[in-house]
Amino acid sequence: MSDPKETWFDQNLLFTIAERHVRGRMVRLGPALNRIIAAHNYPPVAEKLLAEALVLTVLLGSTLKDEQGQLTLQAQTGGGPVELLVCDYRGGELRGYLKFDAERLVEVGPDPTLFALFGEGFLAITFDQTATSERYQGIVPLEGTSIGDAAEHYFEQSEQIPSLIRLSARHDAEAGCVAGGMLLQHLPEGEVGRDRLHVRHDHPEWEHARTIATTLRDDELTDPATSLETLAWRLFHEDEVRAEPGVMLSRGCRCSVDYFAGVLSKFPESERREMADDAGLVQVDCAFCSRIFPIPLAEIAAHG
Ligand SMILES: [Zn+2]
Repeated sequence: MSDPKETWFDQNLLFTIAERHVRGRMVRLGPALNRIIAAHNYPPVAEKLLAEALVLTVLLGSTLKDEQGQLTLQAQTGGGPVELLVCDYRGGELRGYLKFDAERLVEVGPDPTLFALFGEGFLAITFDQTATSERYQGIVPLEGTSIGDAAEHYFEQSEQIPSLIRLSARHDAEAGCVAGGMLLQHLPEGEVGRDRLHVRHDHPEWEHARTIATTLRDDELTDPATSLETLAWRLFHEDEVRAEPGVMLSRGCRCSVDYFAGVLSKFPESERREMADDAGLVQVDCAFCSRIFPIPLAEIAAHG
């Protein structure tokens, strides 16, 4: 029996159903998510969108073989009230922010489609493998009801991998914003990735796993009293599911005076002087943290 007061947050679960060639990921965010949101003052619709996008970022990022690899999610407007959404994930660290027109965002209502939020926008998914310096990017239209729908299209079009993505976020009186999600994929042997000629959605292995996965409820994904392992077991206990915990998730940003001084040192000295104010400081804005860093010219020169 588990402690009834135990809660399961900021966790990441990797699971496989070997005999059906299915792999899965589950994520639940709580305190780490609230730390990211706390840097901003977002209305509920924007908070929910960012929360779901952050869950998706971890789900996709945890498919990277390279633990220090980075996954970046960037959604760009096609005339909708949300102008920009950026999230990234590396080695358990997560960050993200939104830019939007507050007046127009009020008009979309509590449960908007992606079209209502972004217009004819696009989602760019970028995988960076640091170990091999490999980088690839897929771009798909923002279509459907959730940002997870757009990511499913990415896997279908760019990777030819049948995928199911579930995302859910809600506001809890005690825990603040809570979000969860699941990614399920069918990877038959010898058919991984780009070598596939077509996507087969009617494979019996996939149909079986997908049907079971769709029974997972939103309130289960975001229920901190149920561990992700319990959820995976509840769904797939008849299929010999194997689960292992992924890294613990936390809010992480690489912004610092030292980091920005390093970036600025790559500019020619004349340009740096033009960027600086009268006090000899270059003001750098970290949009992830909503924070301005004054970087002294001398500090930048020291990096050169
Ligand atoms: Zn930052």
